[in-house]
Amino acid sequence: TDASSQKEDSTTNGFKGHDMLAPFTAGWQSTDVHPLVIEKSEGSYVYDVNGKKYLDSLAGLWCTALGGSEPRLVAAATAQLNTLPFYHSFWNRTTKPSLDLAKELLEMFTASKMAKVFFTNSGSEANDTQVKLVWYYNNALGRPNKKKFIARQKSYHGSTLIAASLSGLPALHQKFDLPAPFVLHTDCPHYWRYAHPGETEEEYSTRLANNLEDLILKEGPETIAAFIAEPVIGAGGVIPPPATYFEKVQAVVKKYDILFIADEVICAFGRLGTMFGCDKYSIKPDLVSFAKALSSAYMPIGAILVSPEVSEVIHSQSNTLGSFSHGFTYSGHPVSCAVAIEALKIYKERNIVEQVNKIAPKFQDGVKAFSDSPIIGEIRGTGLILGTEFADNKSPNEPFPPEWGIGAYFGAQCEKHGMLVRVSGDNIMMSPPFIMSPEEVDELISKYGKALKATE
Ligand code: PLP
Repeated sequence: TDASSQKEDSTTNGFKGHDMLAPFTAGWQSTDVHPLVIEKSEGSYVYDVNGKKYLDSLAGLWCTALGGSEPRLVAAATAQLNTLPFYHSFWNRTTKPSLDLAKELLEMFTASKMAKVFFTNSGSEANDTQVKLVWYYNNALGRPNKKKFIARQKSYHGSTLIAASLSGLPALHQKFDLPAPFVLHTDCPHYWRYAHPGETEEEYSTRLANNLEDLILKEGPETIAAFIAEPVIGAGGVIPPPATYFEKVQAVVKKYDILFIADEVICAFGRLGTMFGCDKYSIKPDLVSFAKALSSAYMPIGAILVSPEVSEVIHSQSNTLGSFSHGFTYSGHPVSCAVAIEALKIYKERNIVEQVNKIAPKFQDGVKAFSDSPIIGEIRGTGLILGTEFADNKSPNEPFPPEWGIGAYFGAQCEKHGMLVRVSGDNIMMSPPFIMSPEEVDELISKYGKALKATE
């Protein structure tokens, strides 16, 4: 495989260099970068500036759940822009869309009882807010030492200082002086990669729960404030939990009075074939983070849900601690909230969970049918999220040499055939929009197959 041909494929749009220090982009300082410039979207497709059409298998960045041309979301934004483009939610002033959206989210989420909603602009801000909220909560309870967080290796919780610290990806820490010292990382629950020979999924989950308990005991339970987890790890390579994992981990954190934060930024609103990831794995969180599909990404918005127990402490103690002095100018932005309200309405009206479950088996089975390829180690996923990991001899211990650029080559081949996927080293990730038709799923599988053949 010749990785250099990737460059040829991605130069076809004619753009060379740019003025951005672009996110997660290598070579930004060079005039030799060749960005793919996207100009237009339509349903499950996007178009570049030369009119080339791509099936968007990642739904933007796991977020445009309703695809790229939902007129009702545009109408909701336009109507709100025409009425009240902005007002804030500080100091007991607010707007109707933010009140309505908070009410709707509390009604929709039923995995555990939730009492309050805090709005942010992004998933990173949602997770940063979680940490500050949990600190405030433990200060209010007179537990100043209960401040550490446990996250998992390979998790992704965002890019701001705290969210990047919580994330378990080395690239987010190296050269940034992170993670912050109050963050600890426990095992990534990836059965294929880390299970011992002969260990069942249940036994593996028991071992991970024991490791978590050991870590808590070593640090001192009185110092651990919260545990944070994505129901299915997304950016770390699409890693669904092994059987009984969340049941066992929840029992451990509960035992030591540690709050459970569910990072639902990717999983919520149908992606896993249930309305929330917590529903799928019987997670009963104390705190939840949302973003992405909350507005189908038409406007930036994130949110956190807070349990009655946590909000009660915060309210009752605010006399001594003062107000919860945290928030963003755009917390509860009325246009973002109006779009999110409409997105949630559409999810309900179109029975989005049923729709996802209609196409998910075709998507999962169709791509997993390529598992026999000699260059594929594992294909894993559930609902409308799927990861492919390239490896030699089907072994997690035999990765291909990074300089071969297998993942990048596969990604470039997809692009050549008119499909966008997410590439991270030798991991390929897909999370199609919920509105994908069966024919579009067929097209996705066919393009995946062509790219794979060229890569083999
Ligand atoms: N949490 C998870 C699980 C995510 O996947 C992401 C983004 O991909 C984030 C948090 C961060 O969200 P944002 O990029 O909106 O800050």
